[in-house]
Amino acid sequence: MTYKGILDRYGHLLDLPEHTKKITLLEGNTPLIPMPRLTRDLGAEAIYIKYEGLNPTGSFKDRGMTAAVSEAIGRGAETVICASTGNTAASAAAYAGRAGLRAVVLIPEGKVAAGKLAGAIAYGAQVIQIEGSFDDALTMVVEITKTTPLALVNSINPYRIEGQKSGAFEICDTLGDAPDWHCLPVGNAGNITAYWAGYKQYAKIKGINLPKILGVQAAGSAPLVVGHPVENPETVATAIRIGKPARGEQALMAAEESGGRIIAQSDESILEAQRILASEGVWVEPASAAGLAGLKAEIEAGKFDPKGQKIAIVCTGHGMKDPGIIADSMPTPELIPAEMGALRELLGV
Ligand SMILES: *Cc1c(COP(=O)(O)O)cnc(C)c1O
Repeated sequence: MTYKGILDRYGHLLDLPEHTKKITLLEGNTPLIPMPRLTRDLGAEAIYIKYEGLNPTGSFKDRGMTAAVSEAIGRGAETVICASTGNTAASAAAYAGRAGLRAVVLIPEGKVAAGKLAGAIAYGAQVIQIEGSFDDALTMVVEITKTTPLALVNSINPYRIEGQKSGAFEICDTLGDAPDWHCLPVGNAGNITAYWAGYKQYAKIKGINLPKILGVQAAGSAPLVVGHPVENPETVATAIRIGKPARGEQALMAAEESGGRIIAQSDESILEAQRILASEGVWVEPASAAGLAGLKAEIEAGKFDPKGQKIAIVCTGHGMKDPGIIADSMPTPELIPAEMGALRELLGV
């Protein structure tokens, strides 16, 4: 059967209005990649990476965007607008382009990774930089959509969450059950909310088990761990550089209800996890490595017994989104003269 995107495959399980008119780029259906070396090193039964970087615009945001833009065009919207740390902008721009709608995206000045900004511009969005944070930008788009026909496509939009539930469905369909643990980064907290809703829905209709959820924030940007909004969030993981998560309450509830937790990890630990994943062939952007960073830290601290556990880690965005981080955090390639002797010497052969 030809794959036609997540609204086609899972639309009957998503709470979308009648007027929804399918706009798709064949998002979803991403691989759940077994990680044998990581599994062995951490002592688990099986660790899988849900590689969301392989969505059409390079992040999981496409799952929610197909639903949000399909609803918006169905009700006659002409313009979609969002605040973004980058990936939502690229996704909104692509789906709006596909639908023939105008896209406006607000981003925090100077804090968006190159691959994301380039995407938003390439897809034809009107990109506006705000002299402020993501949280400021979100406040502004919420305000403007209250009094104008502009359609809000941030994850406060309930259809974004509906679409993103498909990630949980896919993991369960692949494994034949839910994993024991589900690890993922937490920024504005839409994704953790959606996964938990998706797992609960599948548990009800398919009788599968429920996973425990480990949500991971960046230490410099961890409002759900410190228990209050963070005024000036800072982290290399720009996709989760969010001080006031719109769905923070729901994220805390998901973690608690599932028997899991939300923790914070340093930038150093996140970048190390990024290197570990890349060394086994999966290059992700820094935020996407937070799930592994948290899991590894919990195991090393003796707070998590990996024995016999099946663990799914969502890697939310592709490494190519943030090429700058590699130049900044990893050694630059060696430079030698174009001579065989120099090459032999360097390689020791
Ligand atoms: C948006 C995003 C996140 C955070 O997801 P939330 O739903 O905001 O918690 C994490 N990683 C990447 C790559 C993202 O684009």
